[in-house]
Amino acid sequence: AGQVITDEVRVTIAALASLPLLGRARGYYPKLHTVLVYPGAFIVDRVRHQGPLQMQDRQVLSGESWGEGQVVLSWDDVLRDASLPERGHNVAVHEFAHQLDQVKGWANGAPWLGNRARQARWAAVMQQSFDLLRARLAAGEPDPLGDYAATEPAEFFAVASERFFGQPWALAQAHPALYGELRRFYEVDPLLWS
Ligand SMILES: [Zn+2]
Repeated sequence: AGQVITDEVRVTIAALASLPLLGRARGYYPKLHTVLVYPGAFIVDRVRHQGPLQMQDRQVLSGESWGEGQVVLSWDDVLRDASLPERGHNVAVHEFAHQLDQVKGWANGAPWLGNRARQARWAAVMQQSFDLLRARLAAGEPDPLGDYAATEPAEFFAVASERFFGQPWALAQAHPALYGELRRFYEVDPLLWS
């Protein structure tokens, strides 16, 4: 769509993609092979099956991540998020968090952690925080994770990762156990950065 891949685009996206890897020994995204950049938000048409019905969904997206190793980003949104870090929104961190989740092939908010005990604790903490978020939203109470994180576990993990790096104080206050679990996962403590 006319986006030129300049050094600014490369370096900005590479720097943001590096944030979730800072503390991690593996140091790369094992499946990632393509980062596709559009100048702005992009439209995706998808056919969805619901029982005997075939539905056409049209979505306007700022980013996408595929289990086959592709990340798609809107440059406008990447730049806006990077210039307003205090908002805690970061589409690049969001999509690269999905890549970490998708190492096993699909996204479900439970990246493989190396052993079953850690996996079980992760599942318990995520479920508890997910339920707490939904209860707060239902009661009209604020939560730094917001509506989109409550849609499904994969989005919960990706949005929580955005807040972990962008608004660590707000996340640690609203969801201390979740913050602790993400600190163990990412092996960094963004609370110590400012
Ligand atoms: Zn997502």
